[in-house]
Amino acid sequence: MAVKQIAIIGGGPAGLMAAEVLSLSGHAVTVYDAMPTFGRKFLLAGKSGLNITHSEDYERFASRFGAASDRLRPALDAFTPADVRAWAAGLGTETFVGTSGRVFPSVMKASPLLRAWLGRLEAQGTKLLKRHRWTGFVGDDLVFETPNGRAVIRSEATLLALGGASWPRLGSDGAWTTLLRNEGVEITDLQPANCGFDVAWSDIFKTRFAGAPLKTVTATSDAGTFPGELVISRHGIEGSLVYAHAAALRDRLSSDGRADLRIDLAPGRSVERLARDLDRQDTKASLSNRLRKGAGLEGVKSALLRELLPEIALADPQQLARSVKALPIPVLRPRPIAEAISSAGGVRLDDLDERYMLKSLPGIFATGEMLDWEAPTGGYLLTACFATGRAAARGIMEWLQARQ
Ligand SMILES: Cc1cc2nc3c(=O)[nH]c(=O)nc-3n(C[C@H](O)[C@H](O)[C@H](O)COP(=O)(O)OP(=O)(O)OC[C@H]3O[C@@H](n4cnc5c(N)ncnc54)[C@H](O)[C@@H]3O)c2cc1C
Repeated sequence: MAVKQIAIIGGGPAGLMAAEVLSLSGHAVTVYDAMPTFGRKFLLAGKSGLNITHSEDYERFASRFGAASDRLRPALDAFTPADVRAWAAGLGTETFVGTSGRVFPSVMKASPLLRAWLGRLEAQGTKLLKRHRWTGFVGDDLVFETPNGRAVIRSEATLLALGGASWPRLGSDGAWTTLLRNEGVEITDLQPANCGFDVAWSDIFKTRFAGAPLKTVTATSDAGTFPGELVISRHGIEGSLVYAHAAALRDRLSSDGRADLRIDLAPGRSVERLARDLDRQDTKASLSNRLRKGAGLEGVKSALLRELLPEIALADPQQLARSVKALPIPVLRPRPIAEAISSAGGVRLDDLDERYMLKSLPGIFATGEMLDWEAPTGGYLLTACFATGRAAARGIMEWLQARQ
């Protein structure tokens, strides 16, 4: 096959993975990124250990992408969690399975992997051009802002791998939504995913408990019931257990205008036992003492009940026991997308053909987090970005070949 000039815009995990596949097949690939270095969000993910994939049963893994699971399946089948681990090992980064089944590099960071990856790409002839911000099209050509002014570039195929809109200072700012909408591409609004929520805490509660972890609880929403840990923040609630419920809470807020995350503060005790033990307490004792002796609750757990329940419910052992087992925390709104781990929304999947090419813009492909899918934390995000990056690269090769 003749060498073709391919532009990849966005040097995050999805764009770099596409560059790897294309350059390995002998194509001339240039990756452009607006930032002074590549893979900034990937490096940030490394700060919390880089949960690169998940070791759970593959069928379960492949179902984690909600309504988009079927559409993403061929891409995931072609680059499974086992492939992710083998790929990382091939770049000198061994991985291990943590207690939760999540997979991390043994070094618990991203920098050695990214360094080796960029080295491999350059060795395969990929050009990496930083400080090139794509600003749109002029005719069929791509326009970039560069340190040397405006550059107009022609490519035979272009892959957009521009990311979502979380942590915009790392480069993915979602500005592409306007550019692509102007070209007639259907885009679902970007929304925060895997995010915290605002709660109307009293001043006293947030001053005293912001930063306090709520450990060994379970939380329930439309997403189901999961054990874990959350953190009280000045604004509301944060942490992995909140992220697991974030999509369900966000969607419930948007359909009903209100949503609660229901917390079981004492997962090991039944409501009957709690009611009995609380009933036994001296009614003249303070609430803190009654909760400590009758329910084993103190600190932030006990304060949370006081913060959220009316006096009458605190005074009645039956009601109090029921609240300990299912305390609704009313959430007001998701925290801003800039603080979220990832974005929901993006380029509609039915606006892409099987090859990840935009139906309205022949020759322009899209991949990674900028597509309209979401997943919980757990290594699903990176795996899907890698997998769709590879799928789009194969799509580009098929399309170029078909045009010959
Ligand atoms: C704090 C944090 C922790 C995370 N931890 C994990 C984790 O442990 N496991 C996991 O699976 N996922 C994690 N993620 C999510 C994961 O990092 C992202 O899903 C992933 O990086 C998305 O890859 P991408 O290539 O689609 O986009 P990005 O990584 O966002 O890359 C997009 C690139 O496009 C560039 N760009 C954007 N617009 C332009 C433009 N106009 N011109 C040129 N370049 C442009 C950006 O500079 C950027 O480099 C985490 C995210 C955050 C914020």
